[in-house]
Amino acid sequence: MKKISILLGILISVGVSLIVNADSKVDELKVVASIRDEALKSELAYDILESLTTEVGHRMAGTPQDALAVKWAVDKFKKLGFDKVWTEPVTFKTWVRKAESAEVTAPYQHSLKVTALGFSIPTSKQGLEAEVVHFRTLEDLIASPQNSAQGKIVFISRKMQRFRSGKGYGPAVKARGNGAVQAALKGAVAVVIRSIGTDSHRLPHTGMMHYKKGVTKIPAAAISNPDADLLVRIFERKKTVKMKLQLNSHDGPEYTSQNVIAEMTGSVWPNEKVVIGGHLDSWDLGTGAVDDGAGVAITMAAAKLIGKSQYRPKRTIRVVLWANEEQGLVGAKAYAKKHKEDLANHVTGAESDFGAGKIYAFASNVAENNLPVVKKMAKLMKPLGIEYIDNQSGPGPDLIPMYQLGMSVFSLRQDGTDYFDLHHTADDTLDKVDPESLAQNVAAYVVFAYVAANSEQKISR
Ligand code: ZN
Ligand code: ZN
Repeated sequence: MKKISILLGILISVGVSLIVNADSKVDELKVVASIRDEALKSELAYDILESLTTEVGHRMAGTPQDALAVKWAVDKFKKLGFDKVWTEPVTFKTWVRKAESAEVTAPYQHSLKVTALGFSIPTSKQGLEAEVVHFRTLEDLIASPQNSAQGKIVFISRKMQRFRSGKGYGPAVKARGNGAVQAALKGAVAVVIRSIGTDSHRLPHTGMMHYKKGVTKIPAAAISNPDADLLVRIFERKKTVKMKLQLNSHDGPEYTSQNVIAEMTGSVWPNEKVVIGGHLDSWDLGTGAVDDGAGVAITMAAAKLIGKSQYRPKRTIRVVLWANEEQGLVGAKAYAKKHKEDLANHVTGAESDFGAGKIYAFASNVAENNLPVVKKMAKLMKPLGIEYIDNQSGPGPDLIPMYQLGMSVFSLRQDGTDYFDLHHTADDTLDKVDPESLAQNVAAYVVFAYVAANSEQKISR
């Protein structure tokens, strides 16, 4: 007894918390259910999100808030009592947003709500004014004759469709990514798209666009949906539309940010880990509460609640807050490059990057013989209103590089009905987040992470 108390004393004095292995004597289902139910009542995720969006604000890659966010995350993980906290450098090119404005100058004057798309080149200082040529879709633009937009501003008016799953995004976002290249190929001097979003507010949605080597770079912007509707109605009246566009945003210097990583150490196989997380960066128009402050908060809180349980799962829970997702999965690629030799120890993972709506379903992408573990998760998810879909899950964006190397993944599907009302706009702020839905997300991540981390059988793909 004395020996044990001496050992205890040593352990406590060196700061090692006592970890009880969730072994066969403990009813795992009961342990997970109790942490899950605690998560449902917990305000921790909301508090984390409130802290991030208030103390840091937006977190656009390469801005002063990027560095502030890294510091915030390190401090927060430490304060929450994670066993290990560290950062890994991520270097990228930056883009600096400056003044931006647009107006219709014919058939009459009308100011538009506009935002530059990420990495757009600027117009000249005075701006550019040109006739506008309207295409309903990117495909229409591509199919149009050579020089169909010679000297003109291309306007693409495709409307994004609203779905709970968010599946309207993929088809719509092509105009944002590829619009500038296709418009330039037809001789255009700029491209302006209807915002990739489902709202009816006069708030434009920003996001990444791309240029192509050998194709003239032209300025690219998005206007608010009501402004796009108005333009379409003017075009329906067969009027000539002219627009003046002024964008001053430009490329910035190279910058080094950090992936912020923290762990709750596993009790039996500490080198094997289950990865959860979100991206720490955001766009700059709002405060990135739903994209992706929510994912950061949900996964930090879930790992914390698991970590403070007296029954530690067998494997480590690793939370990764990826740097610069928005401008090209830069942190995710750096993470995969750095950890590819350790891929076999990345048992599985799930990223939260779809706002703060309730989770209604989940899917897996694991080896056939792992399905009993998934079944156990499904049983514990059910009381949260979450159904199992199938074993064909794709990865969250920041897990794509690890998934491509062969890592197994899960997706916890959030209700995204309203997500694209807010996505990449000035309206992406804390007040849009429902604390109860956020807590339900935490509960679901607790179930996923705990069961995966504690499984006798190692999950693989
Ligand atoms: Zn995101
Ligand atoms: Zn985003």
